[in-house]
Amino acid sequence: MWELVLILFTIIALVSLYVKLKHQEQSLKQTQERKQEEIGRIIQQKEKAIKQSTKKLQQKEKAIKQSTKKLQQKEKEFQELEEKHLKTHARLMELKRARDVKKKNLKKYRKKKRKIRRETQTLESRVKEILGREDTWVDHSLSSPKSRKRGKPKGSNGGGRRRPERIHQEIHIYPQECENCGHDLKNADMFISHTSVFTDLFRESDTLECYETIRLKNVKKIVHRTRCPKCHIPCSPELGLFKNARFGPGFVSYVIGQRIETALPLEAIIGEMQKIFGPRFSLSAAAIVGWFRKFEAQIKRIYDQLADLLKESFFAHIDETGLSLQGENWWLWVICCANIVLYRESNTRGHDAIKDLIQGFE
Ligand SMILES: [Zn+2]
Repeated sequence: MWELVLILFTIIALVSLYVKLKHQEQSLKQTQERKQEEIGRIIQQKEKAIKQSTKKLQQKEKAIKQSTKKLQQKEKEFQELEEKHLKTHARLMELKRARDVKKKNLKKYRKKKRKIRRETQTLESRVKEILGREDTWVDHSLSSPKSRKRGKPKGSNGGGRRRPERIHQEIHIYPQECENCGHDLKNADMFISHTSVFTDLFRESDTLECYETIRLKNVKKIVHRTRCPKCHIPCSPELGLFKNARFGPGFVSYVIGQRIETALPLEAIIGEMQKIFGPRFSLSAAAIVGWFRKFEAQIKRIYDQLADLLKESFFAHIDETGLSLQGENWWLWVICCANIVLYRESNTRGHDAIKDLIQGFE
C-alpha cells in the first residue's frame, strides 16, 4: 500500500513540479516578450532620432552648399570689380600722363607767348622811336586850374593860352639814371614820351654887342623816356616845378621881380609887358598870383638870404606905414641899407615884428 501511496505522492509531486515549471516558463516568456517590445520601441525611437538628425544634417549640408555658391558668386564679382579697378587705374594713369604733357606744353606755350609779347613791345617802342609820338598839349594849370587834363582842349576857349605854333628852340630832356636801381641810362635806347611848349624870357646881346635885349622864345620841350636795361622799369626824367608850366623860369622870375621891384598893380605890369612884347603876348593876373603861391618857398629863401646880408651892413634905415589888408589895419615896415630894401608886414605897430631883422644894430 505504502508503495502505492508513495507512487501517488511521487506522481502528485511530479505533476505539481511540472505545473510550477510550466508556470515559470510562461512568466519568463512573458517577461522576454515585454523586454523585446521595449527594445523594439527604444530602437524605433532611436531610429526616429537618427532620421531627424540626418534630415537636419542634410539641411545643413544644403545650406552650406548654398553659402558656398553665394561665396563663389561674390568671389567672381570681386574679381570682376578688381579687373575694373585695374582698368580704371590704368586709364587714370594714362590721363595723368596726358595732363603732365599738356602742362609741359602749356608752360612752353606761355614762355613763347611772353617772349613774343616782349618782342612786340620792343618792336612797338622802336616804331614809336622812329615815327615819334604825336605831340600832346599839356594844359596850363596856372591860368585854368580845373583843366588839368592832357590833350588838346576841344572847342570853346577854355581860358588858357593856345599852344604856340612857331617854335624858336627845341630842348631834349632825358632820364639820367634809373629811379629804382640807380643804373646809368646814358647808353639806354630813348623814346619820345611827350612834348610841350613853353614861353621863356632870354637876355641877349644885340648883334653889335652894344646893348642887352630881352626877348621871348617859344621852346619845345621834348621829353624822352626809356626802360632800364638792368631792372626793366620805365624811367622818365624828373621835371620838377616847371613840369606842366607854359612859361619858363626866366620869364616867371622876371615877372615876380617886376612885381617886387615896382610894386605896381599886376594889370599895370602886364600892360607894360604887352607894350614890349607886342599884341601876341598874353598873360593873366591870376597866373602871376599863382606863381607867387607856387614859388613861395623859393622866394622865401631869397628873402632870408637878403635878411642875412642886411645884418652885415654898417647901418640901416627903418620906417613903417599903415597898410590896409583885406579890410584890416596892418603895418608895413621897410628896412633898407645901401643896396638892400626889405619889407615886412605886421598886424601890430610894435617893434617885435622886425626884431629878428634889426638884431645886432645899435
Ligand atoms: Zn633800373
